[in-house]
Amino acid sequence: MEKLNYRRQYKSDTWHWCKNCPDWPKEDYTIRHYRPTTGQLCEECRNLDEAGSCEK
Ligand SMILES: [Zn+2]
Repeated sequence: MEKLNYRRQYKSDTWHWCKNCPDWPKEDYTIRHYRPTTGQLCEECRNLDEAGSCEK
């Protein structure tokens, strides 16, 4: 099973999972390894994923 890293900045409720997302959190973040059940999923990460250019 693919292991993902979801990151969310403490001050945000948006989860990111593409390392090349412009908003990929680099500090003050928390991590989940499975699809988060709270908060929002980043639209940009979703677009990258659908385009096949998401660096996970
Ligand atoms: Zn993102």
